[in-house]
Amino acid sequence: MKILGNIDFLTEDNTNQSNIKLLSKIIESDNISHAYLFYGNNMELLFRLALAFAASINCPDNGCGSCLICRNTGKGVYPNILIVEPEGNILRIEEIARLQKFVNLSSYNPGKKICIIKESELMNQEAANRLLKTLEDPPDTDSIFILLTEDISIMLPTVISRCLVYSWNFKFNENVRGKDDFEVMDKYLDEGIKTIITLQGSSTGVSAASIDLTLKLIEILKKMEAGVKADLEKEFGEVKKSDFEKSDINKYIEILKSKHKRKINKFHNLGISRVFDIISAWLEDILAVKLGAGKKSLNFLKNYSYISENVKNVKIDKIFKLMGVIEGNRNYLNYSINSELALDNIFLQFQNI
Ligand SMILES: [Zn+2]
Repeated sequence: MKILGNIDFLTEDNTNQSNIKLLSKIIESDNISHAYLFYGNNMELLFRLALAFAASINCPDNGCGSCLICRNTGKGVYPNILIVEPEGNILRIEEIARLQKFVNLSSYNPGKKICIIKESELMNQEAANRLLKTLEDPPDTDSIFILLTEDISIMLPTVISRCLVYSWNFKFNENVRGKDDFEVMDKYLDEGIKTIITLQGSSTGVSAASIDLTLKLIEILKKMEAGVKADLEKEFGEVKKSDFEKSDINKYIEILKSKHKRKINKFHNLGISRVFDIISAWLEDILAVKLGAGKKSLNFLKNYSYISENVKNVKIDKIFKLMGVIEGNRNYLNYSINSELALDNIFLQFQNI
């Protein structure tokens, strides 16, 4: 098994599967483009994914996982790999200059020179313009750029348009903050959606159940955010206690503040996307059962008999419409943080199923 086909932190959904298939194919056919943009909700996992991709590109066996190239690339220490990341809150032009120097050097090692840019949304205008020049006119065919971001919405469209964009969905691991809260959220969603489906035909019943579910979800999202905020406050406390110059401390606190703002926004979006993912998965399952698909094709196998028994009166065109509403609100969320409105919007649409 090649390393790209064997990544344990990816969920087994269609997006991930087709991404892996595509990337494996371009590696096998040696038809590799020079710029990629990977986005997903966990920078560390995006980075590990980029390293696996880089190893597969340079490994003579397309990513065996055991040769020296695979092993060292996996650790990020292979000389053909350059890793660029922001310092504090900004990815500065000096870092991009370092990258340009690297790609202009002839390499002593066989294979491609691969630059991985972490948190690429944090490039300032100057840095982005400089990178853009390299992306538009790469020095040779042996340089590859892999940009990583958790937030594609704030990236320059000109940079995005120069890259092949891949979005990734990651499994939750034990270390993710708020894992217990996420589990409570899943339980609310599971129960709430079932109630809404059971109440089909009674619009007042559905409406009350929708409002109840929205409120519960907002409450748990707020609790999760408060947890993240409390962690960050602790960090402030530590900094304030230190005995550095007051003006330095103040400067650092400013940097921390905007870093925190980003973290909270990311966490918030993570929570909301999960709500959307679960609702979408339910809708796909309802659709699959309506269209006569077997149990194995469902996202949530355990819901097969429940759906079969309860969705006789659900209309297929309504489900399609609701899926459209969800995707619309997902885009909307990228630009505005009014999640309560987005959630309300979606659950109210359930009345029309
Ligand atoms: Zn290898």
